[in-house]
Amino acid sequence: MKCSKCENAAIYEKPALCKEHFNEYFEKKVLKTIKEYDLLSKKDKICVAASGGKDSVSLLYVLHKYGYSVEALAIDEGIAGYRDESLEFLKKFCSEKNIVLRIFSYKDEVGSTIDILSKKYSPACSVCGTFRRHLLEKHSKGYDKIVTGHNLDDESQAVLMNILKAQTSLFARQGPKTSSVKGFTQKVKPFYFIKEKEVMIYAYLNGLNVDFKECPYAPQSFRAHVRDLLNEYEAKNPGAKMNIVLHYLKSRNIKTERKEIKTCSKCGMPSSGNICKACRIKAEIKQ
Ligand code: SF4
Repeated sequence: MKCSKCENAAIYEKPALCKEHFNEYFEKKVLKTIKEYDLLSKKDKICVAASGGKDSVSLLYVLHKYGYSVEALAIDEGIAGYRDESLEFLKKFCSEKNIVLRIFSYKDEVGSTIDILSKKYSPACSVCGTFRRHLLEKHSKGYDKIVTGHNLDDESQAVLMNILKAQTSLFARQGPKTSSVKGFTQKVKPFYFIKEKEVMIYAYLNGLNVDFKECPYAPQSFRAHVRDLLNEYEAKNPGAKMNIVLHYLKSRNIKTERKEIKTCSKCGMPSSGNICKACRIKAEIKQ
């Protein structure tokens, strides 16, 4: 198959594109999302939530390439044979690109690791996600935006997960950018309309030799069930994932309740209750 834009062989179908034109297509799509949804400005102090995986490394790469002033913020959950390896790659990548990297660990900040907590909490993702959001929020103070590598697959899964669990109040966290809420750093997602497969190809084509390994705890998660379900549906009905996010964006104007934001009496971070979920779990861990 030939590239639809030149005489070279296509490395991607739908649209049929060669390496050079795939990169152009990918980057144009990212820049268009940034512009259309007013996600970032070159003056912003940006921190990229980085894990060393394909999404965050591709995100750092493309934002750095287009002159955004990025720093990387990584959270080490303490997952042996997985996060330690991806963080090693991230350190090397950031050092080659002269990108400031700050790493914070659950071990230091929570007093435990996911490898230990997974023995008490199943699925591990339920506590891991809470601490990750908490630490990203805590350590992103002073930045204008947190940029995350969430892609079309992640976002369509999140919409479906919230519908299946009737957690429509969490819709406020979704979309290409979260609303500005006092106490929270705004989160933006330049890969919102990019398929996971496209990010994998982009990482590969640009020599970002990331490991595509999955977290060992991921298969236990609710997200993994929804992901498999959605992948199966998408294979038979191409475009379903895009339809889910487009439907979500169209219905965004329908008022979604967002709980009143209080301040956690233990750590001072924004919280829906008097004590935030992260501090409640920390207290449980100490018992
Ligand atoms: Fe944490 Fe679950 Fe993500 Fe693994 S898959 S890093 S346990 S949230």
